[in-house]
Order: sequence, then structure tokens, then C-alpha cells
Amino acid sequence: MKLLITGGAGFIGCNFIRYWLQRYPKDSVVNLDLLTYAGNLANLADVEQNYPDRYHFVRGDIREYPFVDDLLARHRPDVIVNFASESHNSRAVLNPRLFFETNVMGTQTLLDVAREHQIARFHHISTCEVYGDLPLDSPEKFTEEHPYRPRTPYNASKAAADHLVRAYFETFHLPITISICSNNYGAYQYPEKLIPLLTTNAMDDKPMTLYRNIHNRREWLSVLDHCRAIERILQKGKIGETYNVGSGVEKSIEDIADMILAALNKPSTLKTYVPDRPGHDRRYLLDSSKIRRELGWEPQIDFESGLKDTIRWYVENRMWW
Ligand code: NAD
Repeated sequence: MKLLITGGAGFIGCNFIRYWLQRYPKDSVVNLDLLTYAGNLANLADVEQNYPDRYHFVRGDIREYPFVDDLLARHRPDVIVNFASESHNSRAVLNPRLFFETNVMGTQTLLDVAREHQIARFHHISTCEVYGDLPLDSPEKFTEEHPYRPRTPYNASKAAADHLVRAYFETFHLPITISICSNNYGAYQYPEKLIPLLTTNAMDDKPMTLYRNIHNRREWLSVLDHCRAIERILQKGKIGETYNVGSGVEKSIEDIADMILAALNKPSTLKTYVPDRPGHDRRYLLDSSKIRRELGWEPQIDFESGLKDTIRWYVENRMWW
């Protein structure tokens, strides 16, 4: 099988490419990535070296129809997995338009090209943030049937993309699947996101800046468990369906900061508090029973050991960040 991975030079995409090529020796991957600030070819240096015949990188923009059309004509992938995205909420507050251009119009361009080339599967990567947020004390979880209530420009652009992907299934019978995942952590995450940011700041004895609402919680999943979930969906997922992917493990911003300080043996005086981001969601929690029940997926990495491995990766890969 040949996979076209978009955004494969980013955090989750590079972990997925590595995961797939290690496990499927007959498969090949074309990685289409624009290399924005978040894309980094160093994330895949080992992949380039280990799989020179099965891995091919192309720099380009998912928003450019003629370019993507030509790419598909040349490489003829069986499957597209769309990771390409502007993905950082705080940047979306400063430049919302870019998020809609990339996340919405970029996805629409890919859908049109996938249709034109009769791609066997278009899998789209989405985020729990499309559902909106939950009160801190709510017993509720988001199922796949929950209405979309995005609260930030990033979330709204991801929600719009999900609607588009489903519309292409209903209207054009494009064989799509969607996964909606909770917060990921792991190696190769750009150090603007919470765990790598707090880890690298603490390593350098710099202030760990925490939003004042430190009790806001997130559900955390190892990026490798996310890769396993996408694998299951590609293999056994039902066309047209959406699958929530989460661990059920929630940690507050303060919990995470304390765990990182303990792992690095640093003082709690590094914690400093800054005003909250506008629209900062309090909490998300996914009901992931559908993927567990129907596809037999469940997370394999517990949060404490996964976080320790991740912190160790940033300690051992200072040159990378
Ligand atoms: P990332 O920001 O690390 O990587 C995004 C990649 O997309 C980068 O390599 C970038 O160069 C590339 N890209 C951006 N614009 C492009 C364009 N126009 N054309 C081609 N490539 C382009 O993001 P990530 O954390 O790896 O997230 C990947 C996907 O997973 C996103 O859709 C995100 O919404 C979703 N997601 C992320 C998380 C998380 O915790 N990181 C959780 C759930 C869902």
C-alpha cells in the first residue's frame, strides 16, 4: 500500500510515518509538507536513512490544487492521511485567517483531489476541541454524537474541516474516516505546546509560565497510542464514520508542571502565572468507547511512564529543540 501523509514533518505525522514504515515493510509513504515553523525534516532524518526506497518527501502546500493534483497523478497513493494543519491555539488568536486557509481550504483542496483520483480512503485527523469545553465538575463526556461547539478560531477551523470531510462522504460518497483525538504528548513535539515548553524551560531553569486557570484539565494520550488508533481505523474502520480517541486520563496544567519539576528535580519556584488566553477551554473529555468496542483499540502507554519517557527524550535531544 502507498500512503500520502500530509503534514508528516510535524509532531504526530512524523511519529505516524516512523510507526507505519517500521511495521509494514511492503508499504511506502509520500510525505507532503510545507515545512512551516512547525515542520522539521530533522524529525525524519532516521526514516530517510532507514527507508530510502520506501519514504519520499515532497515540499508543498495542500492549498494548491494543481500541485497536489500533479503529485497524486505521479505517486498514485491508495490512502491519504491528513495531518497538515495550523495547530496552535495561541497563534490562531493572532492570525485566525491562516488557520481557515490551511485547515479548511487546504482540506477542501485535498478532498477535491482525492475525489478526482478516486482515492480508496481519505482519513482526516481532528481534535477533541471541536466539541467545545466542559465545566470542571461535569460528569459529561463528549461522544461522537455531541454537537460541535468550538470556542476558538483554531477549534472552529478544525470543526469546519470535519463538516467538509463528512459532506464529501454524504454528497460524493468519498470513502472517508475521521479520528477525533485528545491532547497528545511524546517525542518531536514543537516546544510551544505545554509539555515540551514546560520541560525545556525547567531544564534551563527558566520560568515555567502557566495560565492563571491552572485547574483547567486536558485528557492526555501518548502519540504512539494515537498512531495505533489511526492504524486500526485505516484497517477496520467503517467508511463515513468518526471515532473518538482518548485515554480517559485527565491532568491539570498544575499537575503536569509538578510532574515535570519532580522528574527533573527542579524547584517549584520556577512556576510563574500569566493571564489566561482568551477563550481558554476549561476541560475536554472524550467518550472513546466506540473505537474500543468496535475496533478493539485501547491505549497501551500509561501516562506516568509515557511522560517520563517524553521528558527523557527532551533531555537527550537538546540539539533538536
Ligand atoms: P504540527 O503543528 O506539529 O504539524 C503540522 C504540520 O503541518 C507541520 O509539519 C507543517 O509544516 C504542516 N503544514 C502546515 N500547513 C501546511 C500546508 N498548507 N501544506 C502542507 N503542510 C502544512 O501539528 P500536530 O500536533 O502534529 O497535529 C497534527 C494534526 O493532529 C492536526 O490536524 C491537529 O489538529 C491534530 N491534533 C493534534 C493534537 C495534539 O495534541 N498535537 C491532538 C488532536 C489532534
